[in-house]
Amino acid sequence: MLDQFRGQYIGGRFTTSSSGEIFRSVNPATAADIVFEAQESPDSVDSAVESARSAARRWRRSGLDARIAALRAVQRMVPAHVDAIAEAICSEMGKTLAEARIEANSIGSKIEGVIGQIHHELPPAAPGAPGQQRFHPMGVMGIVGPFNFPIHLLNTHVIPALLTGNTVVIKPSELTPLCGQRYAELFDDAGFPPGVLNMVQGGGAIGAELVGHDGVDGIVFTGSYQTGRRIREATFDQPHKKVSLELGGKNPAVVLDDAHLDQAVREILLGALLTTGQRCTGTSRVIVTAGVAAELRDRLTSAFSKIHPADPSNSETFMGPLASLQSRDRFIHCLEQAKTEGAQVLVECSAGNDGAWVTPGLYEVDGTESFLEEELFGPHVAFEVATDADDAFRRAANTPYGLSAALFSASEQALEDFYDVVRAGVINFNRSTNGASGLLPFGGTGMSGNWRAAGSCAPRLSTYPVAFMKADFGTVTQNPRLELLLDEVDAPRPNRF
Ligand code: NAD
Repeated sequence: MLDQFRGQYIGGRFTTSSSGEIFRSVNPATAADIVFEAQESPDSVDSAVESARSAARRWRRSGLDARIAALRAVQRMVPAHVDAIAEAICSEMGKTLAEARIEANSIGSKIEGVIGQIHHELPPAAPGAPGQQRFHPMGVMGIVGPFNFPIHLLNTHVIPALLTGNTVVIKPSELTPLCGQRYAELFDDAGFPPGVLNMVQGGGAIGAELVGHDGVDGIVFTGSYQTGRRIREATFDQPHKKVSLELGGKNPAVVLDDAHLDQAVREILLGALLTTGQRCTGTSRVIVTAGVAAELRDRLTSAFSKIHPADPSNSETFMGPLASLQSRDRFIHCLEQAKTEGAQVLVECSAGNDGAWVTPGLYEVDGTESFLEEELFGPHVAFEVATDADDAFRRAANTPYGLSAALFSASEQALEDFYDVVRAGVINFNRSTNGASGLLPFGGTGMSGNWRAAGSCAPRLSTYPVAFMKADFGTVTQNPRLELLLDEVDAPRPNRF
């Protein structure tokens, strides 16, 4: 039996409406089973923003300790909700149950992490300055999430926004509305103050209404470059609005002749195939120097041939299906295009029926193919041979994206050269391109995004800085020229002007 749709979460209550478009999430493992039926509500964005604005002052003035206490109450409820959240992630977007449980549990660890870093990230002291720096909450933050981390990529922005004193309106992906409902239920069960966290359900039109709303002071968007671009355009005439964009990636792993090949192979597999290749930080290019190219090609070919997708709800499964039939068809189409441009098949991706199934693919390229500039979001690697380290770094830097990059080598000097040449927000040495830390900055350059609204910079991104200066009570600033004028009060001279 389907879970009951409880509606929009506004002002601490779930509310349904009699009109509004109905939409459904479908289990990608079967492409037939409806998981959840949800409904948009025509006036939900106005109501949710109004609710968030009404709650803003009280929440802001409640102080950090009270906000920490409210979030600790949420954190205590997480274990009781983990199973339901993980099952929703698994059934709505096909993530393996093992990965989904990690994602569900990360709600609590994110709360812990942001509480731990907030003082450090927002220091009031400005050494040598005649005052303090304070960080004022933006006000109402609109947070729009993608399907691939349907809980984490709401939560990772919600927690810093709330702790710094903002109220929020979230919009989950339309592919994962049950995940959204379960996230709101967690806060509701924890007795979270009404109006501080609100949720609207729906597709792109609801997202567009939220990000463009006059009552929203800041936006954190995670999703594709194409949608991020639309949001930039839509907010062009709202220059006061902070628009943080966490977008896609086309992430290279460079393997030099002196690399530890066992390590490189293992990390490339995890980088390319975890979450069925649907991570913004996933490895989609491997660039290898000539000395180890043949061996790496053989080892990756062998490994890619052995890995197959399987039932994501089985706790032993490494890789599930893609998130939807549309994702599967687009992915396969892009790879077919790549072949027409000259990409050579080492291991062919093939699509299965009865679900959004694809097998991992490995393609050899010369670096000129246009798909190397496009995020495909599926389990594959483009394999490219470079003449030497300089050539490899140049190829890795040749991308419009700039989210994550990895280098496999024994040489720290090579790492410094790589860091100098490759522009990316996350640099990994002898580790996979994915597996980011919330305690470090997270985000990308180029088409991967603008600010760093996730990771350690998130508290600052949820605020605007204020210079805060005080004088001792009753002291006045001396200005000799002003004193002269004031002394002349009894015998004024004619004003020249
Ligand atoms: P998407 O851009 O299709 O949708 C993301 C969200 O935006 C959805 O909730 C959607 O309803 C909403 N939306 C659509 N049109 C909108 C509009 N005009 N205005 C406002 N909101 C709108 O992305 P997706 O397919 O859900 O997610 C996959 C993408 O997300 C990939 O490109 C991936 O790399 C990226 N991603 C980036 C990061 C990161 O941190 N950089 C993390 C995860 C995913």
